[in-house]
Amino acid sequence: MDFEFNEIQEVIRKQVRDLCQKFPASYWREKDQKKQYAEEFVNELTKAGWLAALIPEKYGGAGLGMLEAGIILEEINHSGGAATPCHAQMYTMGAILRHGSEEQKEKYLPKIAKGEIRLQSFGVTEQEAGSDTTKIKTFARREGDSYVINGKKVFISRVQHSDMMLLLARTTPYEKAEKKTMGLTLFLVDLRNNIGKTIQANPIETMINHETNELVIQDLVVPAENVVGEEGRGFYHILDGMNAERILVSSECIGDSYWFIEKSVAYANQRVVFDRKIGENQGVQFPIADAYLKVKAADLMRYKAAVKFDQKKDCGEEANSAKLLASEALSRAADVAMTTYGGNGLATSTDIERKFRESRLYLVAPVTNNLVLSYIGTHVLGMPRSF
Ligand SMILES: Cc1cc2nc3c(=O)[nH]c(=O)nc-3n(C[C@H](O)[C@H](O)[C@H](O)COP(=O)(O)OP(=O)(O)OC[C@H]3O[C@@H](n4cnc5c(N)ncnc54)[C@H](O)[C@@H]3O)c2cc1C
Repeated sequence: MDFEFNEIQEVIRKQVRDLCQKFPASYWREKDQKKQYAEEFVNELTKAGWLAALIPEKYGGAGLGMLEAGIILEEINHSGGAATPCHAQMYTMGAILRHGSEEQKEKYLPKIAKGEIRLQSFGVTEQEAGSDTTKIKTFARREGDSYVINGKKVFISRVQHSDMMLLLARTTPYEKAEKKTMGLTLFLVDLRNNIGKTIQANPIETMINHETNELVIQDLVVPAENVVGEEGRGFYHILDGMNAERILVSSECIGDSYWFIEKSVAYANQRVVFDRKIGENQGVQFPIADAYLKVKAADLMRYKAAVKFDQKKDCGEEANSAKLLASEALSRAADVAMTTYGGNGLATSTDIERKFRESRLYLVAPVTNNLVLSYIGTHVLGMPRSF
């Protein structure tokens, strides 16, 4: 067993780190204050090919593994930036790659790899269903060679900065489905022709700079050739993309956590109060050391999850564990940084409060940590389901 990163992984880390240097804290601060999309950063990352990490070379991507993809996102967040404006471009295409027809792969993957198509929107959540995805009501009715879709989604991110979206809808009503997880279908939706017409995107203001929307879908026509995978099996198709998403999100949390810890250490080493550096006080030093250990532990779990994913082994336990451990480690590191900085933690100029706000999202999305615990309790430990 070897826990060292290989030479290629180290080169990737360095190259992404170098690219991120061009986007200093002032860039992200301004984006946050103006609530603007990080277009310049996303363009640069796309141009360098990093968002095509997981697309096989055959389709124009880099053909890298989950560990390398994680390093890319980790480095973005470690630099003080945020991968959220574009991380989904990396993994949403996984549904096409794993379940799409060869025709769909050839048609879309090379364009996604080049960034000519942004597929970074994924429409699952609905207000009434919440975490209980099988209860979604958005319905796709077959009419000849097309489906007509009606419904409402909530918290659907990057819609205004995507060309296409993967959409989960019911094709058999919940009550008539043979199993509650059946009768859901995955559609590839062209947003370019439909936004403002059959899809109304109403922005939801949040505590972070994140473009997310309520979607009102009215008589959206999607050709049958845009069904991804098998009709009725969409729930299962998205399930196996979730491990990838959870490992990548953990990587972002780990990058953010290291950023918080480095900032805390630097501040504790230079801020003098009562004629000594605040870091000399164990009340300041120990929480930083403790936060560091929690991140290192989460990092190991992320590493194991990514390695198992790349070995095509079942990594549900590790991917879910990494998501919970990394998001909690981040929460801790963010809180410790706030405390270490004292009043300055609240000043926008130090960036601590911005990253503190951003850290909150990972406890909730893409899955809440309670639902992760439920997965561990039932699937891993064999206790009964509560729902
Ligand atoms: C900024 C942002 C961006 C997002 N982007 C997207 C996106 O692009 N696409 C998309 O589809 N979704 C997106 N989401 C939605 C996100 O995935 C959901 O918010 C999340 O899965 C939780 O669902 P919910 O908000 O409906 O919470 P609920 O399901 O209402 O849960 C509320 C609370 O109750 C707890 N809870 C519920 N049931 C149980 C239970 N059985 N046992 C224990 N605890 C329980 C939950 O853990 C949670 O703490 C986004 C959300 C946010 C905030």
